[in-house]
Formats: sequence, C-alpha cells, structure tokens
Amino acid sequence: MKELVGMLPDEMEQFVLSLGEKPFRARQITDWIYKKGVTDIEMMTDLSGSFRLLLSHNARVTLPAVTKVTEAADGTVKFLLELADGAAIESVIIPDEGRTTLCVSSQTGCALGCAFCMTGRLGKRRDLTAGEIVGQVLVARDYLGTRGEALTNIVFMGMGEPLLNYDEVRRALTLILGDRGLSFSWRHVTVSTAGIPEGITRLGKEVLVNLAVSLNAPDDQTRDRIMPMNRKYPLDALMAALAAYPLKRGRRITIEYVLLSGVNDTEDHARALVRLVRGIPVKINLIPFNPFPGAPFSRPDYGRVLGFQEILISAHLNAIIRKSKGGGIAAACGQLVAASSTRGRSGGNENGTA
Ligand code: SAH
Ligand code: SF4
Repeated sequence: MKELVGMLPDEMEQFVLSLGEKPFRARQITDWIYKKGVTDIEMMTDLSGSFRLLLSHNARVTLPAVTKVTEAADGTVKFLLELADGAAIESVIIPDEGRTTLCVSSQTGCALGCAFCMTGRLGKRRDLTAGEIVGQVLVARDYLGTRGEALTNIVFMGMGEPLLNYDEVRRALTLILGDRGLSFSWRHVTVSTAGIPEGITRLGKEVLVNLAVSLNAPDDQTRDRIMPMNRKYPLDALMAALAAYPLKRGRRITIEYVLLSGVNDTEDHARALVRLVRGIPVKINLIPFNPFPGAPFSRPDYGRVLGFQEILISAHLNAIIRKSKGGGIAAACGQLVAASSTRGRSGGNENGTA
C-alpha cells in the first residue's frame, strides 16, 4: 500500500505508470487531494471506475485523525491529532489581523530540550513524514472551509525542530508551495528553527521561504543555559549562517525572543541583542514567556517587556511584542500533547496553563 499524501508529483507519475496508467492521471489525483481536499479515492470521479478500484487496492489517502479540537475565546483553534502509529501531535490555527495562520509540527517531540519549552520536555520521539506535515495543513484547511474561512499562512512553529528533519520538511515545503500541491506563496510560509547553521545554509540554497530563528538570548552564556543545543551550535556559527542567508529585496529574517523574567530580559541583554544582529536584516518578535505547570521561569511584567522593546526601537530595529494567543487553551508549543501524555489521553488540561 502506498500513501498518496506526501508523494511528490514526479513520484506520483511513476506510481501511476507502474499501475499501467498515463502520467497525466497523477495530476488528477493531486488535484483531488490538494486542490479539492478529497481523500476518498471513490470520489475521484474523473478517473475511470477500474482505475479507481486498482488505485484503492494499491494506495490510500491518510490524514491525521482529529482526536480533539479546542477553541479559545480569541479564535485560536488547537487540534490534537493522532497519526497512523498512534503518535500524538498538535497543530494550531491562529487568526490575526486578516491572516489565518496554521502552526504545524515537524516532529512528535523535540530532542533540543529548551528549558522554557514543553515540547522540549517530551524529548525526541520521531520525525514526521512529509505526508504527516502536509496532512496537518489539509485537516486545518478542511476545518476552516466548513466555516467559510481560508487558511492564508503556514509557520513551522509547532512541535519539533524542522531543520533536524530536513528532508521531510523540504518535501512538505515542495508540496505546500508547488502548483501541483497547495500553491501557497513563499511569502506566506515560514520555517522556524532553534538555529541549526548547516540546516539554515542548506534551506537558503534549496527553498525560497521565510526564515525565523528562535534566538532567545544574545550571548552564549545565557543561551547555553536555556537552549542546551547552543553548546553544539554556538552563536558565532549561527550568526554567520544568518548573515549569509539569501533574502529577497525588502525581506527580513524574523528573530524570536521569548522573554524570561530575570534570565534574558535585562537592558544589558537588549543592548547585546542590538549589537549581535547589527548588519543583518531582521525583525524581532518579543514573546513574553507562556507559563506552564512546573516551569522554572516566569513572564516578565509588561513594563519590562516594553523597556526591552524600547531599547531595540531606539537602535532602529523593527521590534514587536507578540501577543500570546490561545493562552487559555495552552496553544503554545507542545503544551496540549504534553498535558495529555502525562495525564492520560482523555485527561488533557485545557485551561490551567496560562
Ligand atoms: N523548534 C523550532 C520551532 C518550534 S518552537 C524553534 O525553536 O524555533 C516555536 C516557538 O515557540 C519558538 O520560537 C520557541 O522559542 C517558542 N516557545 C516555546 N515554548 C514557549 C513558551 N513556553 N512561551 C513562549 N514561547 C515559547
Ligand atoms: Fe525544540 Fe523549538 Fe521547543 Fe526548543 S523551542 S525544545 S527547539 S520545539
């Protein structure tokens, strides 16, 4: 049995040929799946009945199963999804200022273990396949479609480190961006990384897409403390990869900076951040820490966040404070799955985490 979701167009042609059909049938199948959102092979009515039968004996179209949908008052929708092997992941729809963004997961946990991140506490479980990544988009698009809404943006900011699952993420991007896939404009697709320099360099060469980097600290000492991966990939290597990253005219790299009270939020940190990014076209997203039970950090008070932003703005940097969306339903990075996997699948904590 071949899985059709996640197959690249040329692979689909090869597959169709192997079943004795003409290659153009591949395009009909991808149109059904990606353009029309049809997953039932029987409904692919421009294929002959005999080919549909043959296809359904040799292939399937699998989307992640939705185990739970939680909607917050601010419109954020979180999906708890179950994959074919029973693994649980989440993806989140975040409506904001005329955009509707889906935050997708790229792994079922994360090996990088950032101290402020609940996904990091799960540890690495496994990489997602391209089909499982694109499947999250299809599920969300379908959900929005039933409400007459459209999905406009995709960010790889869910569970996992996308650049440590490079090949499958790249395949997923090919399908998300391609006209034989979901046809998203690259302007509306962002890959967020904790900062894997070789992955950044490779991505810059191979795929046109927006890049976001979770910097979170302006010096190695602070970063080592909250992001253990920094010991393997220290800031000088990361900043060199960012300086060399190819950008279209007027585009910037997004720097994400989770503010942790007393850890990385002082005026000195802000000034060090200004020096660190000098010469690199960036915009900075300041994200006040989203607390979770047992977290060893707290969120700085708002005045401190504003003071931090002010230093960046005074240095002519573009810096915004990102509102924490979906806080009441634990929609930050990995929180629902973490809650349900420690309490049993039916006992996820929906509202105690923010
Ligand atoms: N692994 C990638 C993508 C997923 S993490 C990366 O690190 O970029 C997505 C974002 O969520 C990161 O910017 C991370 O810094 C942020 N994040 C994780 N836990 C958080 C928390 N408790 N509060 C606020 N932001 C958090
Ligand atoms: Fe992994 Fe990103 Fe969470 Fe760090 S912030 S543990 S890299 S998912």
